[in-house]
Amino acid sequence: MAMEHIAVGLVEDNRLVGAKRVFPDTQSEYDSLAEMPAEQIAQGIAAQVQAAADGGEVAAIGIGFPGIISANVVEDSPNLQQMKGQRLGEQLMSLLGEKGISAPVFLVNDADAIAAGIAATRGHLGSFIRVWALGSGVGFGRYPQAEGVWENGHSVVSLDPKETFCRCGGVGHLEGIMGRRAMRLRFLDLEPEEVFAHAREGDERCASFVKMWHRALAAATANSVHAGGPGKFFVSGPYSKFVQTGLLDIYLHEMVKMSPLQGSSFEIVPTSDETAIIGAAVSAAHSAAEK
Ligand SMILES: [Zn+2]
Repeated sequence: MAMEHIAVGLVEDNRLVGAKRVFPDTQSEYDSLAEMPAEQIAQGIAAQVQAAADGGEVAAIGIGFPGIISANVVEDSPNLQQMKGQRLGEQLMSLLGEKGISAPVFLVNDADAIAAGIAATRGHLGSFIRVWALGSGVGFGRYPQAEGVWENGHSVVSLDPKETFCRCGGVGHLEGIMGRRAMRLRFLDLEPEEVFAHAREGDERCASFVKMWHRALAAATANSVHAGGPGKFFVSGPYSKFVQTGLLDIYLHEMVKMSPLQGSSFEIVPTSDETAIIGAAVSAAHSAAEK
């Protein structure tokens, strides 16, 4: 699972077995994935998969990766731009082959992996769920997976031409309001944590941003409801800790009025690594079984 960092684990029967491995770690020469060259990301994943497998038999390898993933290729990844166009699935199969691991590799979108993980660990395998993943970027995942692009993190939620903070370069995007990089660019003097703290203490500029932050997520959710119907929306990732579901409910209710489209709800799922690792593995096992 690659989001803020890469987390690797072994999954058996929808459960994580043994310890979770994370890189880059404190000993690494790189502070973040964004700085790490593509080749080293692939080699790092392969090394961690080998360590997690520990000589045991592996049925399938699932990789949750941010961006547009198609046929095991990272077509684009605005927050990890060095990965654009990388045939990561193929590279990993060849690197792992050299290490004696011949299991098939399946790349899935990171937020789709979280959605599959939530479905597998919270008894939603029979239902349609959607997930917002709030971190450096804004991911959108769905379970079961469906054909399509689903880059709803780049939903247009503002018509203001000055809303230009999205990493992808698009104007008025959800990620341009909610993503970490976008928040840093908007508040050059404040970390996101401070923005939310100041809002609670009554600072007007921060408080009005926090309202807009929630309205933006409600708007993108309303767009998804108008396209795909109502349902359960989970909110995950590091910045889900700032979400007030009561506020989201109020805004969503203002934005969705047709009676057959009522009845959506939000739930915060703070842990993302473990859920996402399980989801990536479950998706891979499912894809391997279909082959
Ligand atoms: Zn964008």
